[in-house]
Amino acid sequence: MRTQRQVVDYSLQKRAVLRELLAGRVGTYDVCDASPYLKNAARFHGEPTDRRCPICRSENLTLVHYIYGDELKQSAGQARTLTELPVLAMTLREFQVFVVEVCLGCDWNHLVEQYLLGRDGLVGDGDGTGTQDAAGAEGVGRRRREAQR
Ligand SMILES: [Zn+2]
Repeated sequence: MRTQRQVVDYSLQKRAVLRELLAGRVGTYDVCDASPYLKNAARFHGEPTDRRCPICRSENLTLVHYIYGDELKQSAGQARTLTELPVLAMTLREFQVFVVEVCLGCDWNHLVEQYLLGRDGLVGDGDGTGTQDAAGAEGVGRRRREAQR
């Protein structure tokens, strides 16, 4: 997605958890603890993948996208389908997305990545000025918007 920014990748942490599991330092009950809410979100808003669950290896993983941010008001903390995100990104200035992988077979779940979406990411982008200092333009834009409140 074009406005995706400040991406944090959690694959290292995930590999660490899987290593701990293989070494027997944690049990599957510690890592396969998806809540009923998370599993429902996976069923109704999840994005199917063709990647096998690293624990049970019998089900494919489902990705759940949770959204957070002041502008979302009562929708904050809800799961959204992947197709809804670009629409939100065009209407909101900024919101946080947390991507969680879930196995509906064994309840394995882990945070995959987080990133910011929203119109703020488009400031100074493709406006043809080229040499403009993007950080400066962003700062000015932010101050102007805040002054309007
Ligand atoms: Zn599984």
